Order: sequence, then structure tokens, then C-alpha cells
Amino acid sequence: MKSIIQKEKRCYLCGTTYNLHEHHCIHGSGNRKNSEKYGLKIWLCAAHHNMSNYGVHNDAKLDLEIKQMAQREFEKTHTREEFMKIFGKNYLD
Ligand SMILES: [Zn+2]
Ligand SMILES: [Zn+2]
Repeated sequence: MKSIIQKEKRCYLCGTTYNLHEHHCIHGSGNRKNSEKYGLKIWLCAAHHNMSNYGVHNDAKLDLEIKQMAQREFEKTHTREEFMKIFGKNYLD
């Protein structure tokens, strides 16, 4: 499944097109597979992904913001109940 969040292949946070990693917005314990299935993924440069202390995998606040954004995108075409059933959690409110 292609990303439902991003059309262009560039870092979601800084816009660079260099050194990109694919990030599955909802990750851990089987969720990566579901993020793949439903297109909840974004491109991040190495630093914004996991190669710096401000990258999404090393910054819990940023990680949550991206999960919330992904849930909002998902809920444009699905219900919250579906999100919670698939990902086992609600990241909004
Ligand atoms: Zn970046
Ligand atoms: Zn990642």
C-alpha cells in the first residue's frame, strides 16, 4: 500500500530528498504490518528518523504527534472503532 499521508518522496519534517528512510507511523508489536497495509507511513531523512536524538524513534513527543497525525488521516476514510480494533489503541484525546 502506498502512503495515504504523503505523495512526494521527501522528508515529512524537513523536506529534504536526501538519505530517506520509510517510517511506519504506528509501529511496534505487529502494528508495522498494519501501518503498511493501510498506508500509514511517511518518508523521513535519517536524522529525523533514528539517527539523531531528535529523530522520531528517540523523541516520544514527536512520535506521538506523528501517530496522532496518522490516526487523523486514517479516520478520514475509516471510523475510530476500526482504528482501535486494528491498532489496539486510540492516540487522540
Ligand atoms: Zn528531515
Ligand atoms: Zn521508523
